[in-house]
Amino acid sequence: MSDDARKKPSAEDQPQEAGVQVDFAARRRLEKVLGGNRVSYCYQCGACVGDCPSARFYAGFNPREIMLTALLGGIDKLVAEDSIIWKCSNCYNCYERCPQDVRPVEVIIALKNLARENGAQPDEVTSIYEMIRKTGRSAPVLGTLNRKREGMGLPPLPEIDMEEIREILRPDEEDGESS
Ligand code: SF4
Ligand code: SF4
Repeated sequence: MSDDARKKPSAEDQPQEAGVQVDFAARRRLEKVLGGNRVSYCYQCGACVGDCPSARFYAGFNPREIMLTALLGGIDKLVAEDSIIWKCSNCYNCYERCPQDVRPVEVIIALKNLARENGAQPDEVTSIYEMIRKTGRSAPVLGTLNRKREGMGLPPLPEIDMEEIREILRPDEEDGESS
């Protein structure tokens, strides 16, 4: 969808109904993170919820509501360690369905990156990060795996180029050193 076809309301256009307060400064914090800048296109249609596996399996998880909280500037709540955002499985169904090209999954990834900057990611995420840093893979490769692949006519898993992994993670590692 072209940018022209979408209507992006400006912050000033948005109604401030009685009892509804928008924290624009907090929302701008999200909009500065890669992937977070499209949240203001969301017009709350709910199409992203219809095919969301996490919404089906986790009570309280709803990408439309996450977009609404972000629109209102509730960023601190969304980046807390116990935030519901970590239930998102990054399946990208919402990316395909959103008529406004908000790319909700990418807004959620931006929120996860903000949470990580604050050191508020769950322990499981830290473990996966460490596994990728050390091996280049997000899960251990057990000895039997390649034998099973061979039985299915698949080639062995390729070697990981750890130089590439180190290069990809370098900005993050440098941030960690300076903080
Ligand atoms: S589908 Fe897009 S516009 Fe509709 S609620 Fe979800 S993010 Fe917002
Ligand atoms: S990427 Fe996340 S929010 Fe989007 S449909 Fe998949 S689980 Fe739901």
